[in-house]
Amino acid sequence: MQADVVIIGAGPVGLACAIEIQRKGLSCITVDKGALVNSLTGYPTNMEFFSTPDLIEIGGHPLVSSRYKPIREEAIDYYRRVAEREELTLLLYERVLGLEGEQGALEVRTSKRTISCASVVLATGFFDQPNKLGIPGEDLPKVSHYFREAFTYTGRDVCIIGGKNSAAIAALQCHRRGARVTLVYRGPEISPKVKYWIRPDLVNRIEEGSITAHFNAHATAITKDEVQVRTTDGTVLIPNDVVLAMTGYHPDYSLFSTLGIDVDDDEAETPVFDASTHETNRPGVFIAGTVCGGRRTSRWFIENGRHHATLIAEALAERLPVCND
Ligand SMILES: Cc1cc2nc3c(=O)[nH]c(=O)nc-3n(C[C@H](O)[C@H](O)[C@H](O)COP(=O)(O)OP(=O)(O)OC[C@H]3O[C@@H](n4cnc5c(N)ncnc54)[C@H](O)[C@@H]3O)c2cc1C
Repeated sequence: MQADVVIIGAGPVGLACAIEIQRKGLSCITVDKGALVNSLTGYPTNMEFFSTPDLIEIGGHPLVSSRYKPIREEAIDYYRRVAEREELTLLLYERVLGLEGEQGALEVRTSKRTISCASVVLATGFFDQPNKLGIPGEDLPKVSHYFREAFTYTGRDVCIIGGKNSAAIAALQCHRRGARVTLVYRGPEISPKVKYWIRPDLVNRIEEGSITAHFNAHATAITKDEVQVRTTDGTVLIPNDVVLAMTGYHPDYSLFSTLGIDVDDDEAETPVFDASTHETNRPGVFIAGTVCGGRRTSRWFIENGRHHATLIAEALAERLPVCND
């Protein structure tokens, strides 16, 4: 199998890249280790996007939503229809494992085959790699780094670790579905970065006492029935059935290393790339979307990450011959 360009990751930004690259007359194969827009399929079932529809559109295709802001299901179906309309070549449930060769003659090794190509775009996001707490009990079955929906938590003691958007949304939804929610956050207050329409709701629930919150607090161990938390007033034991550790995510650094992409020596471990073309230190290998931010996972999202597609397509069109296969 061969193409001018292989895109690793069929998220919104990987799809935007495939569209813009194809529009330059280059052939393109997009490979994903999971479903189409795999990350979105793992978001809370009834999530509403923060962005209005126009801001998460790709390829100029209108996203029609019945609401002011689209819901998960509308967005997933939108990206599916766009991929179909643009006749993108997709290889789903196929993980990229390695990359050999030089620019112009690269070989992408997946779990099923080898694909020859001239260039590669890495658009793998970060949603598969949760930031672990590194404490005893984290591997218990009651602990999850992903929140899907609250109904299964009715009548249960749910401890939510974190204080940003994902933790705030999970806390409010669990509380409203009848769970007893305790929030544990290492910061001094609910993060001021929490969306302006979500934060006051949560702060008011904490102030009225319907959600318990511990600030400047660190979970130190999880047992079958409790979470042990270190606070400024000493150790607190929280009765517990379920832990939602909403502690963020990070890119797959082992994949960077496999692909030969360097990372900066900064705190965010940002991958090395040229901001004008998004080409990494490995010639012919480009990077797009949220993965570009390294550990700064709020730096790039769909709204701004989708524009990487145009930069990359222009850079590729200047150097690659058009493949007529
Ligand atoms: C609850 C929530 C709400 C959000 N709301 C908004 C919003 O309103 N507006 C907005 O702009 N952003 C929003 N975001 C952020 C947005 O969803 C992400 O920024 C977006 O998904 C990033 O797109 P991406 O294509 O860069 O990466 P992803 O969507 O994460 O796609 C990466 C893809 O790469 C695949 N992959 C990873 N490793 C491999 C491998 N080795 N081989 C093959 N495939 C691989 C993954 O399976 C995945 O499909 C939200 C995020 C969350 C969690």
